Amino acid sequence: MQKTKKVSLFLILFISIFTKALAGGTTYFGIEIIGDVEFIVQVSGALEVIEAKAPQEFSLIKQYIGRIRQGERDEMDAHNIPLTLTLNDTTVFYSSTWCAGSIAHDAYHSKLHNDYKESHGEPVPDNAWTMLAAEKKSLKYQIEVMRKINAPPEEIKEAELIDLTKLSAREVIYSGIDIIGDEKFIAQVSKALGVVEALSPQDFSFIKRYIGKIEQSERSGMVSDDIPPKFKLADRTAFHSVTWCAGSIAHDAYHSKLYDDYKKVHGAPGHDSNWTLQKEEKECLKY
Ligand SMILES: [Zn+2]
Repeated sequence: MQKTKKVSLFLILFISIFTKALAGGTTYFGIEIIGDVEFIVQVSGALEVIEAKAPQEFSLIKQYIGRIRQGERDEMDAHNIPLTLTLNDTTVFYSSTWCAGSIAHDAYHSKLHNDYKESHGEPVPDNAWTMLAAEKKSLKYQIEVMRKINAPPEEIKEAELIDLTKLSAREVIYSGIDIIGDEKFIAQVSKALGVVEALSPQDFSFIKRYIGKIEQSERSGMVSDDIPPKFKLADRTAFHSVTWCAGSIAHDAYHSKLYDDYKKVHGAPGHDSNWTLQKEEKECLKY
């Protein structure tokens, strides 16, 4: 078994290197693989393992993924034709079995998307295929496949320990502000922005002007030189209370403004925290 695999991997490598036409892309049992040669070899190898040891799962994957391409981050595009899975190098080169498990995982997401579409039509709501419940199902499927292909026990354990809240991280745009994080985080931040928008539209446009993105992070802080300016928000701050969260966003929007103002004149960031006190007071009083 092992020997056959090596031979065919070598063959793919050989073909990829010596046939210019194949450089950049190849097709494995109907699944298009697009990337550099190492990527193509690794992904084909993973598919080959699934096909050999879990043929039933391989047909499911083939049905719900038409293309696997190398990219910045892991992402299943269930709207694209063909259904396209983007995988990043960290996932792919972690190991062949890990790569296989990840493909199975996203094939399952794609299946959930398709199942909903067939029974209810479009649009397919996020919670039908990408949010927490869907993550649970996809991860379960990933682990099943990993077991079938004899992935090392420590890898299976690692998959079992995956933090589903992080996996279900996603992006929502609230009135032009991009919010990235898990469901709870997005709900909390949207609520906070909603409070500001309802009570003080002027402050809300101020925030919008100086913060373009709010991302769930380990620590809070403003990344003002990002485009758009990004506010990294820690759970402790976000979940302290809705008003506290709103105050922190306002506070850092002001930092962002100062940074911007100062940069225009001096080319370096400034600092002030007066505004946040007024702001938080205002929010708390109104609440
Ligand atoms: Zn997932």
